[in-house]
Amino acid sequence: MTPILPGATLGLLGGGQLGRMLAIPARELGYGVVVLAPEGDAPALGLADHGIRASFDDVDAARQLAAMSDVVTYEFENVPAATARAVAERRPLHPNAALLAITQDRNAEHRFVEGLGIATAPGRPVHTVEEFDAAIAALGLPARLKSARGGYDGGGQFRITDAASAAAARARVPAVEGGWRLEGEVRFEREVSVVVARSASGEVVPYAPFENVHREGILHLTTWPAAGSPVALARAVEIARSIAEAADLVGVMCVECFVAGDEVRVNELAPRVHNSGHLTIEGAATTQFEQHVRAICGLPLGSAAPRSGGAAMVNLLGLAERRKVRLHGADRALAIPGVRVHLYGKDRERPRRKMGHVTALGGDVAEARERALRAANLLQFGEPV
Ligand code: AMP
Repeated sequence: MTPILPGATLGLLGGGQLGRMLAIPARELGYGVVVLAPEGDAPALGLADHGIRASFDDVDAARQLAAMSDVVTYEFENVPAATARAVAERRPLHPNAALLAITQDRNAEHRFVEGLGIATAPGRPVHTVEEFDAAIAALGLPARLKSARGGYDGGGQFRITDAASAAAARARVPAVEGGWRLEGEVRFEREVSVVVARSASGEVVPYAPFENVHREGILHLTTWPAAGSPVALARAVEIARSIAEAADLVGVMCVECFVAGDEVRVNELAPRVHNSGHLTIEGAATTQFEQHVRAICGLPLGSAAPRSGGAAMVNLLGLAERRKVRLHGADRALAIPGVRVHLYGKDRERPRRKMGHVTALGGDVAEARERALRAANLLQFGEPV
């Protein structure tokens, strides 16, 4: 591929915090940035040269984005297929539309991963109550019913532990277009994710696995490097590499895995930069965001080496429904060595909304984790001062 050199323009479908953090290295490298987002106050818009305010199913707006860009990418995976097609007919769209379609459907995603000989959580597609009953009988309890399409941050998921929760989940089955996946619950020791970059020339650079702790289905804490069996961690990296190659990835993607002993099972794929990779901004020689820009522009990939003995990231989530909130406590949090605070420019707080994150570096993971958690505890959203 002929490189798309600085001075060219990147088109971005989606204007959230991932788009904002992608726009920063894009601009540093000298690229123009055009963002298509439905919200007038989307976090990435302030960093874009041009914003197109439109919904993601507005195909004409997507064509306009393509016309203004030399290469187009996206920051979330629920871009409608028709929109992706309209862009891809005009400009390179990375990661490719086929990979995007696979990751939009949990059942297709699991079929794809298992087709590569890689284990996933045991599960079955469910479209009818009869299929639900058969899946429960085959997989046993506890289990999770997950909407096949559109789920994000634990949304569209129901945990089934007994007859009552099974009946409640069963009642939801007919209501959803696109169907469900019923999964047996995996007993894991830890969750890890591998963010892997691949360029059009086939160069593959994975970051060492991140270790993730979720709360209510949302990422709470990431530490790096992950602990656990070296065999399993090496296997997770190998899995990410083979998925990137099989999917003809160009850009960055994230492979989330469950680890138990030496065993690794893939939970989920995200064909984009990922929350668990935010600590690469401070923690790695090249950030996941810059790596993505390099990959989609056909530039050489950067080093994924850590810059410290340990790094940790804690998400700052909204608690209440409030407008015009301000972050309090940054003066105290930033007094902790190795701590940095990132805010996404959202002045409207909502419960569970990702408002920002804290990263800390340390001599080892324990020190980084302690610093990041201590900083996050000092930070809260409140009234404007
Ligand atoms: P997901 O949206 O599928 O990534 O699920 C969110 C979180 O729920 C995961 O990160 C796990 O902590 C948990 N989870 C999801 N599926 C399973 C499963 N099959 N077994 C055990 N835990 C799960």
